[in-house]
Amino acid sequence: MKNYDVCIIGAGASGSLASILLAQKGFSVCVLDKFEKPAKKLLVTGNGKCNITNKNLSSEFYNQNIDIFLNQFDYQDTIKLFKSFGLDIYADEEGRCYPISNSAKSVQTILINQMQKNNVNFLPNTQVYDIKKNKNSYNIFCDNNALTCNNIIFACGLNDFSITMLKNFEIKTKKILPSLCALKTQQNTKILNGVRVSNVQVTANCDNLIMVQNGEVLFKDNGLSGICIFNLSALFAKNKRFEGKICINLLKNYSKTQIFKMISEKLYIFEDMQMLLESMFDPKVAKYILAESKINQETKYIDNQKINAIVDNIVNLQFNVTDCYNNNQVFSGGVDLSELTQDLQSKTYKGMYFCGEICDVDGICGGYNLQWAWTSANIVAKNLQKN
Ligand SMILES: Cc1cc2nc3c(=O)[nH]c(=O)nc-3n(C[C@H](O)[C@H](O)[C@H](O)COP(=O)(O)OP(=O)(O)OC[C@H]3O[C@@H](n4cnc5c(N)ncnc54)[C@H](O)[C@@H]3O)c2cc1C
Repeated sequence: MKNYDVCIIGAGASGSLASILLAQKGFSVCVLDKFEKPAKKLLVTGNGKCNITNKNLSSEFYNQNIDIFLNQFDYQDTIKLFKSFGLDIYADEEGRCYPISNSAKSVQTILINQMQKNNVNFLPNTQVYDIKKNKNSYNIFCDNNALTCNNIIFACGLNDFSITMLKNFEIKTKKILPSLCALKTQQNTKILNGVRVSNVQVTANCDNLIMVQNGEVLFKDNGLSGICIFNLSALFAKNKRFEGKICINLLKNYSKTQIFKMISEKLYIFEDMQMLLESMFDPKVAKYILAESKINQETKYIDNQKINAIVDNIVNLQFNVTDCYNNNQVFSGGVDLSELTQDLQSKTYKGMYFCGEICDVDGICGGYNLQWAWTSANIVAKNLQKN
């Protein structure tokens, strides 16, 4: 069996970077991945643009305080490191950082280039199915191969394989749930399917934990999507329960009094309530508001009580969350950080490290999850010593 200083399971974001940094330090490194090329998943990130990090980096955008890690390798270190690999990065007005090509392919290319340049052994199309610990080494069993190594890095994300391995090694995990995903609602939103509302304020309430986001919501057949909703799904994932409320304020820049006045004045202009509300909202949203307010679309005049009912729905359109869709960008949960040392090594198994999504660290949309992949890969690579 071929022996390596380090074997890395998974050549995704964190595994690819860790392999480069360790090879640069002189370790013999082997990375195994079931895909043909490293960093395949990166190609779909950031809508194909790869939101690589964020200039507004802080633990508040993660499920727990990870300052101790971010202080060691933050967004500036990411930008500097990738620049040294030949990748130029820009930040948009909200701090989200992308390659100047606006193409995730550039990020994959520079990682592959560095892996080749530093003689990383990459084993493509290699599915790992078991790992065994010996006294001072690990055996890795794949479809058509078996390897040994002194150190092993789990960089394979959260899936059936990693969950089985964590169970076998009796490593304590936090409950694994989808995060950054669309939400299913009790209300039937079929008539709104495909409609986007912009510049809205969305509030999530899960067991009295509140989170607020501003931006855009996309209605689905039976639920809600869009970046705001993806971010709010993290609150439900953190609370380990996809049940609660979502409230949308469709006119966040106006007070209830202003909206009341606006509608009252329009009563004398429009032929019916549907037309009146279409002057303020998408026709399908107008129809939905009227239905929720129990007002017929063709009604011409309404009393103050009915105007108030409409105003309430405009500023507080309520949806009961019943579940999540499985279009999640990340999983919450995974290896409990209390199981790991500050260099992300298992406290129980010497030479066993974890980086990326397999750890119980997840952030909201905006480059935070990839930043964790880069930070954790860097910490593992910096601290891993020759046995
Ligand atoms: C659609 C989408 C868009 C996203 N956009 C962004 C974004 O713009 N910005 C951001 O910060 N985050 C984004 N994310 C999240 C980000 O992609 C992940 O947080 C990040 O890729 C996790 O890195 P990782 O190294 O832990 O795992 P991954 O990048 O998932 O890599 C894991 C690797 O392990 C391999 N593997 C798994 N099991 C085995 C096995 N048994 N044998 C061999 N190989 C195995 C897989 O093939 C894979 O290549 C997005 C995610 C999705 C799905």
